Formats: sequence, structure tokens, C-alpha cells
Amino acid sequence: MTSTLLNEFTAHALHDMLIKGEISSLDIVQAVYRRIDEVEPEIRAFVTLTRDEALRQAMDADERIRRGEDVGPLTGIPVALKDNLCTRGIRTTCSSKILENFIPPYSATVVERLERCGAVIIGKTNLDEFAMGSSTENSGFFTTRNPWDLSRVPGGSSGGSAAAVAADETIVALGSDTGGSIRQPASYCGVVGLKPTYGTVSRYGLVAFASSLDQIGPLTKDVRDCAIVMNAIAGYDPCDSTSVDRQYPDYTTFLVPEVKGLRFGIPREYFGKGLDADVRSAIDNAIKTFEEMGAIPVEVSLPHSEYALATYYLVAPAEASSNLARYDGVKYGYRAQGQPDSVTMTRRTRREGFGAEVKRRIMLGTYALSSGYYDAYYLKALKVRTLLVRDFEAAFEKCDFILSPTSPTVAFKIGEKIDDPLSMYLTDIYTITANLVAVPGISIPCGFGRDEMPVGLQLLGKHFDEGTIIRAAYAFEQATGGAGIRPGLKGRRPESKCGDRGNDGNGGRGSVGGGTCYE
Ligand code: GLN
Repeated sequence: MTSTLLNEFTAHALHDMLIKGEISSLDIVQAVYRRIDEVEPEIRAFVTLTRDEALRQAMDADERIRRGEDVGPLTGIPVALKDNLCTRGIRTTCSSKILENFIPPYSATVVERLERCGAVIIGKTNLDEFAMGSSTENSGFFTTRNPWDLSRVPGGSSGGSAAAVAADETIVALGSDTGGSIRQPASYCGVVGLKPTYGTVSRYGLVAFASSLDQIGPLTKDVRDCAIVMNAIAGYDPCDSTSVDRQYPDYTTFLVPEVKGLRFGIPREYFGKGLDADVRSAIDNAIKTFEEMGAIPVEVSLPHSEYALATYYLVAPAEASSNLARYDGVKYGYRAQGQPDSVTMTRRTRREGFGAEVKRRIMLGTYALSSGYYDAYYLKALKVRTLLVRDFEAAFEKCDFILSPTSPTVAFKIGEKIDDPLSMYLTDIYTITANLVAVPGISIPCGFGRDEMPVGLQLLGKHFDEGTIIRAAYAFEQATGGAGIRPGLKGRRPESKCGDRGNDGNGGRGSVGGGTCYE
């Protein structure tokens, strides 16, 4: 008999059980916290847990369901939030010492939207400080570990959110993506992650990193949950001047396992030097799967790809240097004590409060924007950005979506790249352009590479055409069963169901701890 703990289900499966009255939201939330208590000492996905408030929200949700109110698919479902999303009354740190004790007076629009849907906020997840990084090693507090192999990074910067979903410490999570920070950790942790088209999800209350690139999006166990979370968070918001006022679709209508006749572009520049052979072979298999389903491969070219990383590392630090000027020790956040004057106080505050990578970005950005260099660096980067936009426009004339690896390698070892920023930056080589050109991208599990680590497949869509990539991702997931495979912990072999636990010598993830099973 297989038995699955409630925290291991998807949101849509739990919703079915909730509305039938078979389980309560309180049961789910308690299962989630039991799991957190068991595995958090090893995974370290969360900066803050909001246990008391979550239990109260769960009871509210149960009351709504009991009264027969019109409840939505996220009512009573646990959600983890990346800790750069402001939560009223709950510490929001950006994993930075400078905001270690910052309690926002308001919530991000996405948080309000989720709460309106009756979702239960269970905690705030770890990230690279201010979302700058690809491994969570730049967190000012601690490094999160990959549930598939604790000696490896979960990716970043939304590594806490991805690891929490992969380890069944939450049902769904939100992350933010400025150059790949949802998709790359989704790929490394074997979960689904979507970066929406710029302007689709309000950035109000997302602590700004690079405002022309930042987007919030879901990290989930399958594509259906991704569509469900998108329905909750997408939409116009007058509080964000870059939010686009248009009709957003019901994303679940694209959950049809049908891609016959769709043309998918294979960008030749994304399959060259630097792509590991194990990842390449998983992607080649994915291409075959799409062909077998009747989709048509077309070769496309994105000729300016080689300049994308350099462009990003001018645009993003330039915007960051301006956005992070607000941390001056005066208005909020950390303040160095006992300083003789305000200039010294601000200088010391920033020296002590920011970590090395954040300082590196501020210096790079300030330099790129400074008089005499502006034209050579920042302005030039903006021009190249336009060329990248044109590359994508030309490619999308030939295809309906673009297919590529999410990252050139599987998750790397903790410590492997931390002293070599360039090699760390290169892990985002295939994700970064989507932010520069504002198109949507999804990463979905597509098998395993070296050392049985998950590989992510990236699908990029036309502006505001999340529908096509959700449809293609769903069809692929249905064809491959990708969403069913979950990590064991402590380096155990992955398995598809915890029901096997105890039966094999290695033990399943269920053997990490006890807890009640839902049978
Ligand atoms: N890894 C990239 C960086 O360090 C992207 C980060 C992100 O998307 N937030 O900037």
C-alpha cells in the first residue's frame, strides 16, 4: 500500500481533498511543519517561519470551507515566500545583515493577492543577498543545501524557495527572477519554475534589485500548480508603474497535453561550448520527446547571445547601485553605532551591512554610470539589449517557443564557484537573456545528469504568451512523468513515491522522519 504524507502532494491534489472534506488545511499545515522540523537542520531553506500566524490562517481557511464559501484552488494551501517579498509585520531580510531586523509596514501585492485567495504563508525563504547570486552562498546568514545532494547548492538566488518545494517543506513557493533566479534553482532542485513576461506580475513590495529585469514567479511541484499560482499573482497593479494593464488569461486553460504542429526553436548558440555532455543528452532526449508528440523542431539563431552576460552585468549592477543607495542607516535597516557624523555613519553602515558580492555589484554599477564612462558602458549595454530584443523577434517569426537547457551544468558543489565570480555568473548564460528581452521562461524537470542530479529544460515564449510554454511544459510533463520523481535526502537515491520507504535498504525520504501518512 502506498501512503503519502500531506506535505508531499501538489496544491491541486490537496484542493480536491479539501473540498471533499477528507482533510483540513490545518492537517496540511501541520504536516508541512513536521517536515520542516525534520529536515530543516540539513536543508536550511527558511530564514523565518511564521508558524503561529500560519496555523491561524489555516483555521480561517477551514472555517471558510466548512461554511461552504466559494473557495479557490489556493485556499488553505501552504506557500513559502522568498525573503525579498515584503510581508506586513513579518521580518523581510533579503538575507542581508543590513535588513536583518526590518519589519515592513506593508505587504507586496503578490502577498496580498495570495492571502486574498486564502493561501497560508508558512515562512520566508533564504536567498543570495538582495538576490545577487546563483547558489545562496551569498546569503548573509547561511547556505541552503540541495535536497538531492546535501553537498551541493540548490541554485540561486531563489534557492531557499526551490529547496523547500523539492524537500516537501512547502506545497508551493514564490521566487524572483532578475537573470535566472527562479529557473536556475528550479532546474537544480528538480522542480517547476516560471519567470513571467516583464509587467505581468506586480513588483510592488519586491525589494528592488534591477528594476527593469525583476519579475516574481512560482516554484511548484508540477506545471498545473504553476498555472494555478500564476492565476493568483498575475494582473495589473496601479502600485507598480511597469505593471501592464491588459487581459490576463486563465492559465489553467493551457493545461492540454497537445503540442502537435507547434514549432519549437533550437537556438544554435545555446548548444555550444560550456554545455556539459550530461545536460546536453537530457536536452536531446527532450527534443526527441517533443518530436514524438508531433511538435516541429526548427533551428533558430540568437546571434548576439555572446554579449548577453556582459550586457546583464552592466545593466543589473547599474540599476542595483541606484536601488541600493537607500540603505544609508538613516531611514531603516542596520545602522553602525557610535559614529562621529552622518557621512561616517552611512559609510560604516554600508561597509558592515553589505556582503562582498553586493559591494562588488554596487561598485561595478556606480562605475558604469559615472560621467565619462556612461556612454562606453551603460549606454552601450542598452544598445546591445535592443539587439538582443531583435534577435528574439526574428527567432519568434520562425517558431512558437524556444527550447534550451536552463543551465549548462547540474547543481555544483558548495564552495566550488564561490571564489570565482565569473564561473558563477556563467551558470545563468541561458536564462539571463529572457530578462533582458522581457520574455517569459519556464524550467521543468527533464531527467537526470551526472551523479543523478536533476536537469532542467527551459522553454521561452513570446511576450505575454505564457500560455504556449505552459501548454508545452504540461505536455512534456505528461509524456515523461517528470513531476513524480522526488529527492531522497542525505544522498539517498531519488524515488517516485514515499510509499516505498522502509522497503529498500537506502530508505526513502519518508525515513528521514515519521509523521502521519495520508492513505
Ligand atoms: N544569478 C544572477 C545574478 O547574480 C541572477 C540573479 C537573479 O535572477 N536575481 O545577478
